[in-house]
Amino acid sequence: MTNAVVVGSGPNGLTAAIRLARAGVEVTVVEAETRPGGGTRSGELTVPGVLHDECAAFHPTGVASPYLAELDLARHGLRWRWPEIDLAHPLDDGRAGLLARDAAPDVAVTAASLGADADRWRRLVGPAARHFDDLAAEVLGPVLHVPRHPFTLASFGARALAPATWLARGFADEPARGLLTGIAAHAFGRLDIPLSGAAGMLLAAAAHAVGWPVAEGGSEAITRALLAELADHGGRVVTGHRVRSLAELGEHTGHAAAPDLVLLDTAPAGALEILGDRLPSRVRRSLARFRYGPAAFKVDLAVDGGVPWRNRKCRRAGTLHLGGTAAEIARVEAATARGEMPAAPFVLVGQQYLADPTRSNGSVHPVYAYAHVPHGYTGDATEAVLSQIERFAPGVRERIVAVAAKGPAALEAGNANYVGGDIGAGAATGLQVVLRPRATRTPYATGVPGVYLCSAATPPGAGVHGMAGYHAAGAALAGLARRP
Ligand SMILES: Cc1cc2nc3c(=O)[nH]c(=O)nc-3n(C[C@H](O)[C@H](O)[C@H](O)COP(=O)(O)OP(=O)(O)OC[C@H]3O[C@@H](n4cnc5c(N)ncnc54)[C@H](O)[C@@H]3O)c2cc1C
Repeated sequence: MTNAVVVGSGPNGLTAAIRLARAGVEVTVVEAETRPGGGTRSGELTVPGVLHDECAAFHPTGVASPYLAELDLARHGLRWRWPEIDLAHPLDDGRAGLLARDAAPDVAVTAASLGADADRWRRLVGPAARHFDDLAAEVLGPVLHVPRHPFTLASFGARALAPATWLARGFADEPARGLLTGIAAHAFGRLDIPLSGAAGMLLAAAAHAVGWPVAEGGSEAITRALLAELADHGGRVVTGHRVRSLAELGEHTGHAAAPDLVLLDTAPAGALEILGDRLPSRVRRSLARFRYGPAAFKVDLAVDGGVPWRNRKCRRAGTLHLGGTAAEIARVEAATARGEMPAAPFVLVGQQYLADPTRSNGSVHPVYAYAHVPHGYTGDATEAVLSQIERFAPGVRERIVAVAAKGPAALEAGNANYVGGDIGAGAATGLQVVLRPRATRTPYATGVPGVYLCSAATPPGAGVHGMAGYHAAGAALAGLARRP
């Protein structure tokens, strides 16, 4: 029987393992941390009974993922839960841009919040939202494929190629400008460069089409469901062992020989460490040149009675983007990308408990936040995050019961893939947006026979969709079939 080791148990490691196991391969997943799941873990980080997402929180890409849908993870207890309003972008003057799934009860939420820009918003985001299923299939599909929906892709591409700042300038007022710019900021980086509008367009369309749901019981429910599916197909997981070389992998399979296949759910830096001199020199040079992006500084709060947002509609929103006007966000994102820590960084806040009340303990709710900070930032951004929240929610500090903070070094210590605190698996700049981790037609191949990279550093990139793992496992199986 063919055997394989998957190094790392993030969503991509687990989907890779599942695809191999379903194809009849004997699979062992080896995870460095004591708990599997990588970016999809949850825990009581502040006070007992209050459940926080440790990394990923919102799952538009999870709902849109063709492979997660094929696995039918509801059989293993995964339930998506939607907030009433998916996203809010509060402004200093008390107004807020709002975005809600069109299937939500209050369909007019988005248009009402954007006023005179409502029609412009519909024209910009509407086509991608209406054809979101086709678009998701193209974007999450194999790197090289004949587009099955060329017109949808071309129409999206024409807009997404533009810098986010240009797209925002098409609006007359700040609620729409800020809303779009805040979404584009998910890509961590400058917003005035080509392709920087892509994340904003895609995630805005996703919000309308499928919403930004959370997983009931925390994002860890995704890990539990994937582990159950893997176990059903005979796969097993070893935790608490950080792999540092290929040579040590045989011991985990129970076979004397090295495994037939190895899939690395690691950053390019991890692949360099594990594969070392076995890598062809051109691949080694490319992986060494891989650029990592700005970092996250995570702050989790236990808040009695929830956050008293000045704009009351924000109290119904699952996600909030805090950064003020589009111009301010573009300025602080550019500073962060240059390595400068802004006084008022861009902050993302999550109120997952609104969609999933099982996470709260009575009136004490988990509030999730992270700031964008420079790569490898070593300072303490907790106060900057609290100040941004207070800017739009005066009085919040009196309600905070407990705080847990993790900077870039702590994030990397808990997951080697977050190099310098980069949670996006590499900078979203230049060709690296699409050609990851290097410019090649076979991004999953490492050049070492039987060894593939399957993490978010490969296409289609960051997010909990498992599609990188799925495609990498497909490449590995195809490689196996070609072997003499
Ligand atoms: C704070 C934060 C917020 C986020 N928010 C969202 C969100 O809301 N929505 C969303 O879709 N995505 C979000 N993400 C991103 C998402 O979590 C990642 O894109 C996704 O988890 C990538 O999956 P992966 O399998 O490639 O890697 P990971 O999930 O990072 O998993 C990699 C695994 O490999 C293990 N590993 C690494 N090296 C080794 C080694 N040498 N030996 C053994 N094991 C190893 C790690 O310990 C880890 O368990 C967020 C991430 C963070 C950190």
